[in-house]
Amino acid sequence: MAKPILLSVDDDSDVLRAIERDLRSQYGAEYRVIGSDSPTGALELLKQLKVRNDGVALLLADQRMPNMDGVGFLEVARQIYPEAKRALLTAYADTNAAISAINQANIDYFFMKPWDPPAEHLYPQLDDMLDDWQASYRPPFEGIRVLGTRWSPRSYELRDFLARNHVPYQWIDVELSANDSETKRLLEALGPEASSLPVVLFPDGTKLLESVPADVAQKVGLRTRAQTDFYDLAIIGGGPAGLAAAVYGASEGLHTVMIEREAPGGQAGMSSRIENYLGFPAGLSGADLARRAMVQAQRFGVEILSQEAVGVRTEGPYRIIKFADNNEISCHALMIATGVQWRRLEAPGIDRLQGAGVYYGGGATEALSCKGEIVYIVGGANSAGQAAMNFSKYADRVVILVRGTSLASTMSQYLIDQIKATPNIQLWTHASVAEVHGDRHLEEISVFCSDTNKVELVPANAMFIFIGALPRTDWLAGVVERDERGFLLTGPDLIRDGQRPKGWGLDRDPFLLETNVPGLFAVGDVRHGSVKRVASGVGEGSVAVQFIHQYLSKV
Ligand SMILES: Cc1cc2nc3c(=O)[nH]c(=O)nc-3n(C[C@H](O)[C@H](O)[C@H](O)COP(=O)(O)OP(=O)(O)OC[C@H]3O[C@@H](n4cnc5c(N)ncnc54)[C@H](O)[C@@H]3O)c2cc1C
Repeated sequence: MAKPILLSVDDDSDVLRAIERDLRSQYGAEYRVIGSDSPTGALELLKQLKVRNDGVALLLADQRMPNMDGVGFLEVARQIYPEAKRALLTAYADTNAAISAINQANIDYFFMKPWDPPAEHLYPQLDDMLDDWQASYRPPFEGIRVLGTRWSPRSYELRDFLARNHVPYQWIDVELSANDSETKRLLEALGPEASSLPVVLFPDGTKLLESVPADVAQKVGLRTRAQTDFYDLAIIGGGPAGLAAAVYGASEGLHTVMIEREAPGGQAGMSSRIENYLGFPAGLSGADLARRAMVQAQRFGVEILSQEAVGVRTEGPYRIIKFADNNEISCHALMIATGVQWRRLEAPGIDRLQGAGVYYGGGATEALSCKGEIVYIVGGANSAGQAAMNFSKYADRVVILVRGTSLASTMSQYLIDQIKATPNIQLWTHASVAEVHGDRHLEEISVFCSDTNKVELVPANAMFIFIGALPRTDWLAGVVERDERGFLLTGPDLIRDGQRPKGWGLDRDPFLLETNVPGLFAVGDVRHGSVKRVASGVGEGSVAVQFIHQYLSKV
């Protein structure tokens, strides 16, 4: 934990050195002693300390300084650090000024120069002041702080990215906490930079303005550059399928890299409770499953890159992956485990309010903010049911909108039973979203009711969309064969009329999970015909590693 600070200010360098020396020898073990030879420099420093979230216990200023006297300095400094104890250093002739300062400017004490011996004239009074300060001191948060507003899509994207990558951070909503005195002081210390939201403040005092996940990823040590440029196995996608392949590949001695553009865990990471995964009778959250798998993968030496793959090509036995930042790596065997992404809901207002009350998927970071609010869930599959159960713990009311007549054909019975038993969840059948409304954020939804042919306008604070998903594989077009919806074809699906795929130059058929490019495999939800479940993704990811060994034995 960073030590709180004792700051002394004096334009006379001999006096400054002497006071620093005495403070350090008595309090150096518990406090950081800093000196400044100008009041304006010290005020600038205090602003920086405020932005870094450092604690300041004592401000000790000489009364006679050019441009600004000690009392003037302490008065301004008090606006930045109101809790810090304030003391003046005075010469005998300034005693009257010091006494009136105690009354007028709320100064805690004044010391006379010289203060020798300090054990008599300095430490007892400082001990008293510092004990008093310690009694009400709450150590500041030491991690990353994110400043933004709840309804800003960019703030949402950043918070979601940090949460899903398990990076602890403190969220400061500058609108909601606008009247909070500590937030006000922080914004003042930031000055005009405070308007470049989202602002991320790091414990080392650096900051990122108008921050985007890729920059923050680099700063918090998520690796964006590969350690080497060649791997036995590269896996694109860090959902359950990719993570399983990484664990099995690396544990069996393959030099393995896993590339993930958002956060390991994939869709499963958004699931509030997976209840059908073998070995976890009480269920487990997707975030927990992802965290455990990550630890396991890292233990076996898997390198994890925070990057987006945007292209793939082959050069002889090498498979080359191009990243969004234009860097490339190559490998012998490549596995695509990029899963699926939410289908877009087509209705006026949706795109404009996305991230500002309208969200695709679980919105892990939003659940807590929905306390006491009205939340709509669109969709009738298990993912929607899990989300409804999760939001019902925080929201005042959760409404599930489905187009059909019931949930029976789309949702597992255990979830239907849980929903029925939860009084603040309401099911609205024959209903679809016609339009969403709101100026800066979602305020109302127009719901089309197919049974009455009418449109109802209802108030809403947040809407989460779970209407099925499709793969995004355009970047593989022309290299990997895909079906009409973009899913990747593998194994027997590639054999047509007994013929192997075009350009296939080997004297064997493609392996079960191999695409039309030898050594390029596809597993999990992105694969044509896959069962869209965590367990099946994990199974495919691990089984594919066996085919990779066979492939590598002949490269
Ligand atoms: C809310 C929800 C709840 C669910 N609940 C359950 C449940 O209870 N039980 C169950 O069995 N299943 C459940 N599922 C389904 C299950 O999560 C999926 O079947 C499973 O996650 C698929 O795993 P995957 O690895 O194939 O793909 P995904 O989980 O989709 O992971 C793919 C990963 O690839 C990354 N990626 C994509 N493109 C690129 C690129 N170009 N470069 C780099 N990275 C990329 C993505 O960011 C993503 O992290 C649920 C799904 C959701 C959304």
